[in-house]
Amino acid sequence: MSGVLASTAAAVGIIDKAVGIAKKLADDGGELDRATLKLELANLMTELASVKMEVVTTQVLLFEAEQKNKKLEEQLKDKHSFSFAKGVYWKEGDDVAFCPKCFETDQKRVHTIFRDYKIVGFSRIEQQNWYCRVCDTTYEITN
Ligand SMILES: [Zn+2]
Repeated sequence: MSGVLASTAAAVGIIDKAVGIAKKLADDGGELDRATLKLELANLMTELASVKMEVVTTQVLLFEAEQKNKKLEEQLKDKHSFSFAKGVYWKEGDDVAFCPKCFETDQKRVHTIFRDYKIVGFSRIEQQNWYCRVCDTTYEITN
């Protein structure tokens, strides 16, 4: 937001200069010769063009900040819909566990696969677990 504040401050400074020129034209308009009047009008137009550029810059910065804010809101909302229990992550209304390693390390929401066995070495052992095929991690189901 510091960019927005700087850009807004610059725009206000330029508007002040433009108002100063307009005031001079209003006060001394009748006494100024045609060449000076033209010059002051050209200065006024330059200041107005500058302020337009600053406002466009502010608009772009605000748009970017708004997009970033929206993304953060979505991430926060998504984060709140998950809870951690029994060594894995759960999402409301979903009875398949999410991998905690992928969730916490890579911020990825990866469904695990329910298995009733695990492989240890070359042996197949009967044991219920959640298995993540993305990071190849097995989470034992504990009660
Ligand atoms: Zn994983």
